[in-house]
Amino acid sequence: MDPEILKSSFAVVERRAEFAVKYFYAHLFRHHPELRELFPTDFPEDMERQRDRLFAALTFVMDRLEDPELPDYLRDLGRDHRKYLAQPDHYAAVGSSLIAAFAAVAGSAWSGETEKAWSEAYGAIANIMLQGAWEAQHHGEPGWWDAEVVARTRHGDDLVVLTLRPRQRLTYSAGQYVSVSTPHLPGIWRPYSLANAPRPDRTVDLHVSRVEGGVLSTALVRQTRVGDVLRLGAPGGGLTLRTPADRPLTLIAAGTGWAPVKALLEQLEPAHEARLFLVARDIAYLYDQPSVDRLRARLPRLTVTHITPAPGRPKAQATERLLTALGNRAGWTRHDVYLAGPPDLVEEVADTLPSLGTPEGRLFHDLLPPTGGNRPLGAAEWLLDRPRPSWHNPTGRTPGA
Ligand SMILES: Cc1cc2nc3c(=O)[nH]c(=O)nc-3n(C[C@H](O)[C@H](O)[C@H](O)COP(=O)(O)OP(=O)(O)OC[C@H]3O[C@@H](n4cnc5c(N)ncnc54)[C@H](O)[C@@H]3O)c2cc1C
Repeated sequence: MDPEILKSSFAVVERRAEFAVKYFYAHLFRHHPELRELFPTDFPEDMERQRDRLFAALTFVMDRLEDPELPDYLRDLGRDHRKYLAQPDHYAAVGSSLIAAFAAVAGSAWSGETEKAWSEAYGAIANIMLQGAWEAQHHGEPGWWDAEVVARTRHGDDLVVLTLRPRQRLTYSAGQYVSVSTPHLPGIWRPYSLANAPRPDRTVDLHVSRVEGGVLSTALVRQTRVGDVLRLGAPGGGLTLRTPADRPLTLIAAGTGWAPVKALLEQLEPAHEARLFLVARDIAYLYDQPSVDRLRARLPRLTVTHITPAPGRPKAQATERLLTALGNRAGWTRHDVYLAGPPDLVEEVADTLPSLGTPEGRLFHDLLPPTGGNRPLGAAEWLLDRPRPSWHNPTGRTPGA
């Protein structure tokens, strides 16, 4: 894999991203009409968003070509793609169309050398994803989990806690997330954190906050009822507990970032020293105080700091207040830090912590998936494809060919 060639050619394609994305889908559906049904055609709005995500997803991988966490992320992604019934042939079809789109858009900037570099890169990426899928299949894991809603608690108009009972065993670690789909919106998946450490009765909680104009969060908050069956993808994510018992830890949770942090706290030994910063856009969004109280009772060395904006002030003030509160605390060189919340807050706090003394490698948060205009990764993950020899066949490049 040659990162320099990939990055420079991607920079050329990126300038005409909109055309490249249209070309990609036109090429894909023309050559493989059978793939059309795997995309959410009943929801053209989501299909539009998916187009944005294509380049967000590509940029995400381009930025992390040398990140040691990328292979784990890709393995999880491949495992998760089993929910789309993604087959090796599908991967290859998408990759073929992607290369065709890039070649068409880059024009004279595209060469045999560039094509080879992209083919090799996607070969490597797709192989890791397929390996993740194969390992999951080999262990008898289902492609997805059907999970019945057994309890539902609304907190105000825009937040719901759903308790689900998966029909097959769902093995995961505290702090991980799953992608979720509802029968009300088939084909639309979004990630949500599992808000509890594994329980003996195997139920899991999701904390869903409704996003204005959000497709899935609105359906989950407003339409989901006890007895509904949701679909869950494979658990993933690296925000899992890895701190030895003799090292203190700081957990910072903003909004529904509380969900994975709560799961981590449930897994903590009672003697562990920990401090929690719980951030909300206003007091009404500090929705789970009974759980905080229960955890405090179980963890005598846990301190809790609530952070909200001053009454009437914008929610951004919560971030300012959080950064001030963090700056007023000592001991950062000793602490491991776990961080979950909206991507902009996570980025800002992650940028600040090293200057407070957090040692390198001691700050844990999920690799933030590409958002495409603040939107999470969707089925455009398809682009992480496996090359096939026909990529080098120029007649396969144009939609009309
Ligand atoms: C690893 C991970 C874990 C997550 N865990 C949770 C969780 O536990 N609980 C939870 O409620 N959400 C969680 N999310 C966010 C969730 O996946 C969805 O992005 C969110 O529910 C919006 O989806 P939607 O379909 O309603 O919005 P979309 O239809 O995708 O987007 C509609 C509009 O809302 C904007 N938008 C999308 N997401 C957000 C956002 N988070 N904040 C503000 N604006 C947004 C978009 O830019 C767009 O304009 C998590 C995300 C990730 C990446």
